[in-house]
Amino acid sequence: MATNRTFTMLKPDAIENGYLGKVLDMIVGAGFEIKAMKYTRLSEDEAKKFYEVHAERPFYGELVEYMTSGPIVAAILEKDNAVADFRALIGATDPAEAEEGTIRKSYAESKAKNAVHGSDSDENAAIEGEFHFNAAEIF
Ligand code: ATP
Ligand code: MG
Repeated sequence: MATNRTFTMLKPDAIENGYLGKVLDMIVGAGFEIKAMKYTRLSEDEAKKFYEVHAERPFYGELVEYMTSGPIVAAILEKDNAVADFRALIGATDPAEAEEGTIRKSYAESKAKNAVHGSDSDENAAIEGEFHFNAAEIF
């Protein structure tokens, strides 16, 4: 996958709190093009695998429980400098530390329930995109 792509999930709190449309509007308004999109719910195995890098962290169990607690929207996004620009758009992990105008500052509930995921590298963007979408689902 090209390095001008990133992967996102609108997390269960964003959907539950009714922010799906507002968050998508911010993403598209910031110049990201939607290459793939799916409304789905992660299984426990999928959530564990997705956040495997955090398996030893104390919040891992809580994170898996939360990420499987309701539907999410998964998407592949395209834009120049996609990974870094999307991380800037979503803001810091903890909304209390996120800058004004970021998605997390506007819509996240807490550090755990923080509304949105963004890939942290081009390599992970490709891995995460392929985790959720096959070639026929990417436009
Ligand atoms: P994400 O990978 O979801 O985009 P991030 O890269 O900003 O978030 P990570 O350090 O990768 O942050 O943490 C992954 C997710 O685990 C966070 O988004 C959050 O939902 C949860 N998390 C991280 N730190 C904590 C914590 N101290 N307590 C509870 N949950 C946490
Ligand atoms: Mg991360």
